[in-house]
Amino acid sequence: MTIAPPLERDAGRFPRRFSDTFETLDLGALRDAALRATPRDVERAIASDGPVSDALLPALFSPAASRSLEALAQRSAALTERRFGRTIQLYAPMYLSNECVNKCTYCGFSFDNRIARRTLTLDEAIAEAGGLADQGFRHLLLVSGESNRHLPVSRVAEVARALAPRFASIAVEIQPLEEEGYRELEAAGVDGVVVYQETYDPEVYASVHTKGPKTRFSWRLDSVERAGTAGLRSLGIGALLGLGDWRIEAIATALHARHLAKSAWRSRVAISFPRIRAAAGGYVPAAPVDDRDFVQMLCAMRLAMPDAELVVSTREPVALRDQLIGLGVTRMSAGSRTNPGGYSEPEASEGQFDIVDERSPRAVAEVIAARGFEPVWKDFDRSFVAR
Ligand code: SF4
Repeated sequence: MTIAPPLERDAGRFPRRFSDTFETLDLGALRDAALRATPRDVERAIASDGPVSDALLPALFSPAASRSLEALAQRSAALTERRFGRTIQLYAPMYLSNECVNKCTYCGFSFDNRIARRTLTLDEAIAEAGGLADQGFRHLLLVSGESNRHLPVSRVAEVARALAPRFASIAVEIQPLEEEGYRELEAAGVDGVVVYQETYDPEVYASVHTKGPKTRFSWRLDSVERAGTAGLRSLGIGALLGLGDWRIEAIATALHARHLAKSAWRSRVAISFPRIRAAAGGYVPAAPVDDRDFVQMLCAMRLAMPDAELVVSTREPVALRDQLIGLGVTRMSAGSRTNPGGYSEPEASEGQFDIVDERSPRAVAEVIAARGFEPVWKDFDRSFVAR
């Protein structure tokens, strides 16, 4: 049994925003299609040559596919090695500010949490990044809460300009911007953006985002597309796992990624799988995702998006991260801190959430190498795309 998702029906109007396409999706029907998928559907999906068809996509995230996890993982591993070789890129997140104007019930930075707030000065950001560069990192992700007052886009651009000489690529995970804002960042040396939708279920979204600009679901949904139009070459998306039904989140994430691959074809899509971890505010996941579901989601995503970067952060435990090397992941953070200034002074301010894998970057690199993969500290240079 298969069901064809109502994708891009108005071919004559493409490209159009993902929010337009999203309105035509029946997420409940897609989840039901996953729940009803048969072992035969899963076999056909795994045997697909190239990306799995839209009709078979829900089968990848089905209970039937969970029972074929070994075959799914083997197919994911083969596709990943064919496309990316035996490599894992290492990157470091660096928090610029934990100020935020939004109320997100699951996040330590939510404006109503009484935590020590801090925004790095330019000199502090340069010093913090210098320490990461000294450890070998050349791919940097600048992260912040969402507060235009404390961290306007002009300040992020200023930081990026200062750091660009030491880093091969700089991505940002900050408040969604207009296309013009992304252009300003691109001109400053930023080449990637990450905007997690958190949850693709509009009802769950409304229940956990109760105040602030983040309440605008569609504005957020289209942000990475605006970044792609502005010329950013890496577009990162993902759902925060634990908020809503993981099958809905996974299928919607896959559809979002497939849309971006067409509408922002000059950019590469990167998909993350952040699971909720303990944070100030004490949010308890409403829909926890266990390790088996997590592995299925990651491997299935590889079959849905053979060309996408798949990203696993230090939110995940050591044993699981190590097992995922070779199964589909292509990018990992290491030695992360989630508080502004945390690399220089670990107790300097409050973190966004608890890190689980606390190994040093070198220790993570050694494990990657021991598993027969190359830990890659740099796989890009701005001169490749210099105008
Ligand atoms: S999830 Fe992002 S927007 Fe929401 S409170 Fe945390 S930092 Fe702010």
